[in-house]
Amino acid sequence: MNLAPPILEVENLRTWLSGSEGVVRAVDGVSFSVGRGETFALLGESGCGKSMTALSIARLLPDAGRILSGCVRLDGQDLLQLPESAMRDVRGSRIGMIFQEPGTSLNPVMTVGAQIGEVLLQHTKLRGRAAQARVLELLDAVGLPDPKSRVDDYPFQLSGGMKQRVMIALALACEPHLLIADEPTTALDVTIQAQVLDLLRTLQKQMGMSILLITHDLGVVSEMAHHVAVMYAGQIVESARRDDFFRNPAHPYSRKLFASLPDRQTRDRNLAVIRGRVPSLVAEFHGCRFADRCDFAWDLCRATDPAWNIVESNHAARCHLYNEAAGSREGEAGGPIAGMAQSSACGPVHPGTDAPLLTVNDMKVYFPVRKGILKRVVGHVKAVDGISLTVRAGRTLALVGESGSGKTTVGKGIVQLLPLSGGSVNFDGIDLSSLSAGALRGRRRDFQIIFQDPYSSLNPRMRVLDIVEEGMIALGIGGDRQSRAARVDAILAQVGLGTEMKYRYPHEFSGGQRQRIAIARALAVEPRLIVCDEPTSALDVSVQAQILNLLRDLQSRLCIAYLFITHNMSVVEFLADEVAVMYLGKIVEQGSADLVLRSPQHAYTKALLSAVPRVRIPGKEKAVAAG
Ligand code: SF4
Repeated sequence: MNLAPPILEVENLRTWLSGSEGVVRAVDGVSFSVGRGETFALLGESGCGKSMTALSIARLLPDAGRILSGCVRLDGQDLLQLPESAMRDVRGSRIGMIFQEPGTSLNPVMTVGAQIGEVLLQHTKLRGRAAQARVLELLDAVGLPDPKSRVDDYPFQLSGGMKQRVMIALALACEPHLLIADEPTTALDVTIQAQVLDLLRTLQKQMGMSILLITHDLGVVSEMAHHVAVMYAGQIVESARRDDFFRNPAHPYSRKLFASLPDRQTRDRNLAVIRGRVPSLVAEFHGCRFADRCDFAWDLCRATDPAWNIVESNHAARCHLYNEAAGSREGEAGGPIAGMAQSSACGPVHPGTDAPLLTVNDMKVYFPVRKGILKRVVGHVKAVDGISLTVRAGRTLALVGESGSGKTTVGKGIVQLLPLSGGSVNFDGIDLSSLSAGALRGRRRDFQIIFQDPYSSLNPRMRVLDIVEEGMIALGIGGDRQSRAARVDAILAQVGLGTEMKYRYPHEFSGGQRQRIAIARALAVEPRLIVCDEPTSALDVSVQAQILNLLRDLQSRLCIAYLFITHNMSVVEFLADEVAVMYLGKIVEQGSADLVLRSPQHAYTKALLSAVPRVRIPGKEKAVAAG
């Protein structure tokens, strides 16, 4: 047990942001402490105030933000009382920071060596050769291959994983007592993520450093944290040691987060969803902030803000269920994870058929590399290099692999958004690549694509009605204007959107709702195959659960086949009938989902599966892959 005083104590921190709609109470009375040499994970979905908490601690708030009250003590010293000049010394020397996106956090016009050298110059007495040697030592410590030749590289010359290593080297340059890591691996592939997490653990052991880890990923928390705090709507709602939290998540919101994780065990039923949305932080709250979404809410929850209640030693939740004075209802929250039972009423998924709907034979997509004034072709990038696969009607084939492996190019090649350099795509017996533009347009209603980013894949100037109707008009289906409008209403209802929403524009919707609009647009033309290109990777886990349920429900009702492009193994376990693993433009392994996931044969598949962070529940054998 760690009896030393905590390195960081945050007390009743309140940070407000001024926005166009009023004051946003981004951090609203947050208190916690980080033990020495420990990793404290702040867990929550986007918009709950995690990053604002971190920025408040480092006093790096945007112009619109201000700290209203509270206390942030680092080694007993209140950082909020320090003048800015003293705070500059604290940042970089006693507090190191790593952000989510290494590409935008590094200076693009300075070499990596110069950037680390600048930190040393600012915060240490090292100069000249000694500083250079320290730069190389740091790059070596974070595992950058061949530091001597890389030290003069610019950020754009490095891969995402290498850039994140440089960010870590920068953050650790002055051996800080506390490292704030804000979603340090979210932008990275799963194998690189495993390396970076491993590196952080090793460096923490060597340097005795504390880490404030900010993440939305339960798998990362499970692998890294000693202590966990769950944030919701600007407040911490649960706090516990890691094992206690994973054995017995107490707050109804935490329990829902667990229940929304897809995995093999949830294949036969719908995932739990959290109804409604995170409340706006502009309004003042009366009562529990989770009340509108909670299955256990009763009158007291809506009238009184819950105080901290003890669940067990070192484990507390901000919830009336654990308040004995209010007539504890603890038993109600225990037992099976809330939400699972109610949402498991879905019927079996449509069995599909064995008839191939889509057959891809030896597909090649090469991109020419041009050089010189005449732009002569001097070579080719073989993005897809001879892949073959089959998708059956009403079934799901998952195409998995890391970024850059060629998955998206395969998807675009199949729906003929990219010309093929070789091979063929047969849809229902017809070779699509041999069709004329007019004939291809006629077939387009049969195969649609949903893109990864619901923010950029919808035209911001079109209303939902026009977006959904556009395909019908282009392909001449759906009858006259009136019947098309009725059809739009029916489709919006199918994807869980109210018909009154059809007159709104995309910016008026959340990420999950936008992805529903994208799905509605695809469904409008009654496709038999949908290529889903990472449709949930930009979404929070609870919203992801809604979309996965919806896709499976539509498949069971309409017998649609999916080619599901993803790097998320837990989604594959939940959804896929078959799996194909891609690496550097080729498929290295394919087969039934059960076979590939349970007994992978190819070394790359094994590496991919073993790199996935797992939610380990103490005392249970189950290990759930998360995000
Ligand atoms: Fe649900 Fe009430 Fe607990 Fe809030 S206080 S989480 S509404 S049971």
